[in-house]
Amino acid sequence: MDFDAYAKTAVDLVNVRLDTLDDLRALFADDREWMRESVADKEMAVFRRAQRKLRDVFEAGAAGRDGDAVAELNVLLETFPVQPRISGHDAGDWHMHVTSRGASASAEYLAGAAWGLGVWLCEFGSARFGVCADERCGNVYLDTSSNNCRRFCSERCATRSHVAAHRARKKAAVDEVAALPSTAVAPKAPVPVGR
Ligand SMILES: [Zn+2]
Ligand SMILES: [Zn+2]
Repeated sequence: MDFDAYAKTAVDLVNVRLDTLDDLRALFADDREWMRESVADKEMAVFRRAQRKLRDVFEAGAAGRDGDAVAELNVLLETFPVQPRISGHDAGDWHMHVTSRGASASAEYLAGAAWGLGVWLCEFGSARFGVCADERCGNVYLDTSSNNCRRFCSERCATRSHVAAHRARKKAAVDEVAALPSTAVAPKAPVPVGR
């Protein structure tokens, strides 16, 4: 795993629903099977708390509060210290892995998430932390677009939102014509009603 992959584990955690222990287990990828097996019910509270704090980091970055994003991440880094280790899946493919100094799934996952997000911030800046512009969604994302213009967490949210905006504009145009004094405009054809 590189720091990018660790940063994505922070995104995954913020965007997941944490109602049951199974929700939490689903968060762990296949190469983290030991976490799935060992994670305990009492760790739910730790994950939920970290989830809120990580969301704060994304909201601060997205709102231009760079200093807050850094301060909040520093608190997380202090709470979940990492133990770096050089690792290679194939010989010669050396890269850094981070583990926690404890042995629990929560300590390990959260250490990696905070570290990855911290390195990501130093590399790309907190302005590239995003919260989906669709209010019904609220998912967070890392904006890797070339001009930092991404507004939605996914293609699905972007499409849904564009369709809604298009309908709203169409309706506004119809309402505007209907509101004009009858002498001002005499439409030749009936005004279509947007649906
Ligand atoms: Zn690796
Ligand atoms: Zn979304």
